[in-house]
Amino acid sequence: MKTVSSLLDAHWYERYTKISKLNIRSSIYDVTNRCNLRCKGCFFFSSDEHKVAAEQMDIAQWGSFIDAEMARGVNLAILIGGEPTLCLDRMEAFYKRLPTFCATNGLIRVPRDRFPDMMIGISLWGDEDDERMLRGKNTFAISSKHYAGDPYTYYLFTITPKQIGRTEGIIRKIRDVGLKVHMQLLSNDEGVSGFNWQPAELIAIRSEMDAMLDAYPQTVISSKYYHEIITTGTMLGRPFGWMECPSVTQPMDHRQPPPKRLTNFIRWASDLKTMHRCCTSETRDCKTCKDGAAHMSWVMVNKRAHMGTAKDLQNWIEVYEMFAKLYQFLPW
Ligand code: SF4
Ligand code: SF4
Repeated sequence: MKTVSSLLDAHWYERYTKISKLNIRSSIYDVTNRCNLRCKGCFFFSSDEHKVAAEQMDIAQWGSFIDAEMARGVNLAILIGGEPTLCLDRMEAFYKRLPTFCATNGLIRVPRDRFPDMMIGISLWGDEDDERMLRGKNTFAISSKHYAGDPYTYYLFTITPKQIGRTEGIIRKIRDVGLKVHMQLLSNDEGVSGFNWQPAELIAIRSEMDAMLDAYPQTVISSKYYHEIITTGTMLGRPFGWMECPSVTQPMDHRQPPPKRLTNFIRWASDLKTMHRCCTSETRDCKTCKDGAAHMSWVMVNKRAHMGTAKDLQNWIEVYEMFAKLYQFLPW
């Protein structure tokens, strides 16, 4: 049997050693059912997940819930919503207890005196025209002022088919405000006309993402293998989908045969009792799911499958490193 040390030279083995010490156990929390935007294609609102549970309003309940989550082994809290920054006290309840990541649209500035080193991912859905069309606002104009130069912030750039040939302008703007960027692809949950991916567009955007990583390595946090996985929806010949997805809420996961999955992962609604099926929308067709974190995690939980060749294992290491950087387990 091939072993890690037989596949890697000293340089790659050292990189492997660093990530093999990490034991990331994440779960996802809807901090609130409200948002100060209503983007066309938002999985949360389009699937009515904001209606399934009433928000827990008692901050003490949030504290004891988070303590129980930590006792369950969670060591990374991923805060989503709705818009988490509408509830800074709930965010603080997480941040004071464990490593915390906040996904935000960036319209409200997270006060750094309260959250000095919390990692923040700002959603961005394209250039000014796309943002106005899909989100009703040029959010970059506001969020870039709030976070320029912030060492613990990056843009989560959701690329749409309309962005082909135009991503460089956005990446340059992000570089020029001193921030990093990570790319994923729009899943178009509300079927907005012209925003569904066609096969030729996925081929084109893969090579554009590769070119952006080559041209802006200090700004783009990514890996070419991740680009391959997310644009082809296949990994080592296996298609992504329900039977492969690693990001299914563990107590709701009755798949047979059980796939490799995130240990103890749960996505909680804001009543702190209800669970959602997975890291994204329950109504999304898994065959069209382009969720970036689910694809990254898919690679990460399948280490053994990447031990066929040195190149496969190096690809696996790069995706793991990328994930660890995005959630502050490794420096940029
Ligand atoms: S900012 Fe995020 S949570 Fe709010 S509507 Fe847009 S995608 Fe949904
Ligand atoms: S919608 Fe995406 S994240 Fe959710 S179970 Fe399906 S493949 Fe996984």
